[in-house]
Amino acid sequence: MLKIYNTQNRKKEEFKPVKDNKIGMYVCGPTVYNRIHIGNARTFISFDIIRRYLIWRGYDVIFVQNVTDVDDKIIARANEENTTAEEIAKKYTQLFIEDMHAANVLDPDVRPKATQEIGEMIKLVKALVDNGNAYVVDGDVYFDVRSYNGYGSLSGRDIDEGESGHRDLRTEGIEDRKRDEADFALWKAAKPGEPSWGSPWGQGRPGWHIECSAMSHKYLGLPFDIHGGGSDLIFPHHENERAQSICAYDSGFANYWMHTGMLQITNDKTGDNEKMSKSLNNFVLLYEALEQVRPATLRMLSLQTHYRSPLVFGQKRIDEAEAALKRIENTVNTLNWEINNTSGGDKDIDINLKDKFIEAMDDDFNTSKALGEIFAFIAEINSTDNLSNASKQAAVNIIKELMDAFGVELEQQVNYPDEVIELAAKYADFKGNDKTEAIEAILQARAEARQNKNWDIADGIRDDLSKFNLQIEDTPDGSRVVQS
Ligand code: AMP
Ligand code: ZN
Repeated sequence: MLKIYNTQNRKKEEFKPVKDNKIGMYVCGPTVYNRIHIGNARTFISFDIIRRYLIWRGYDVIFVQNVTDVDDKIIARANEENTTAEEIAKKYTQLFIEDMHAANVLDPDVRPKATQEIGEMIKLVKALVDNGNAYVVDGDVYFDVRSYNGYGSLSGRDIDEGESGHRDLRTEGIEDRKRDEADFALWKAAKPGEPSWGSPWGQGRPGWHIECSAMSHKYLGLPFDIHGGGSDLIFPHHENERAQSICAYDSGFANYWMHTGMLQITNDKTGDNEKMSKSLNNFVLLYEALEQVRPATLRMLSLQTHYRSPLVFGQKRIDEAEAALKRIENTVNTLNWEINNTSGGDKDIDINLKDKFIEAMDDDFNTSKALGEIFAFIAEINSTDNLSNASKQAAVNIIKELMDAFGVELEQQVNYPDEVIELAAKYADFKGNDKTEAIEAILQARAEARQNKNWDIADGIRDDLSKFNLQIEDTPDGSRVVQS
């Protein structure tokens, strides 16, 4: 039984989809004014893992993620770069998609852009004004938080109590555009030089929160199953989305609210762990990180920490994640080599890894526990003597299937025999002891021999490699050595 921690009720709950085995899932997307950093990536990768698991588990998932392509920050960036907000949004939307592909994050089923859904948003704002949940001030429209009793229930804030209490500006007699400090803009009157659209309240543009309410309603219908984002979005963004949708559509909104813990980075000066954010200027962009770290390693890092816990990023964690990934890859590669090159033993084992994996993942997506089960299985395989090739093959299949469900692509390595070092010494004067480097040197020597029409040498290399069941494959990306 799948259980999900629901931020709304602050507890794990049995997951029941609105309709059969279909799941409507909405995860707030980026504001496209810069490339995303690895903090953003942590949230997107976590939801990719969750989505992949739900699909693997047999659910039919519709995943919607918006792109916020009109916003103050985009306009500011356009002014800085002396271009239009439209150009900035277009450029960074494209780069966002590239970054997500590089991190092996699946494309959403629908990726609506705010600027293409303005009509939907205007309809929503109008419904809120008509219902008495919103008011108009000189071309701005604000949501009246006091008009909805449930305001604050997602984030656990009470409008009138404690530090988070807001001031009712009306009772204080203060003149302000907003009636209450907590009221928020649904529609903003146009300012000169900014993108704007016509509306019943004059030229203007939508507020940020309204787009997710409009798009989730349009593409998933209400109520839908899962709404996700980073925990920094609980207040005000998700609180506001929820209030708007419930009041405008007179319906439930998201049944399960899921929030990821923040990726943090240690401040060199203070030693404190801080949230990675653009405003603190302590960020590492995802594409820069991926120049140093394999995408699969970055994903392992996410898997090793529960999605709701903070994740402190640093070289030590990267090294641990890489070592863990290598352990899985080495096991799979060694087993594959043994299956192909030996007749195997006669011991068969029962493999019940899948059940343990499901048990861990069904418990609010406990990925680190699920990984732990995979490692325990690997330890068992490695310590079992005389394992049959059938059991080895079954082990390879299940490990690959589960890592695939996580979205981790395992690198297939050929297990080169020790003799390649001697061959590299013979043909390329190679003096090292790394087998992969030796193969590189041999391929280089062969390329040079072919260029110089030294066919005897080129053929000699091929023949010598074939003695060890190694074969040269020439591909458009260059030559490589594979097991024959
Ligand atoms: P933004 O473009 O700032 O709206 O962020 C896009 C997504 O990244 C949101 O779901 C945020 O909650 C999430 N996010 C931002 N900073 C971090 C962080 N340091 N760790 C994890 N998620 C983050
Ligand atoms: Zn949103």
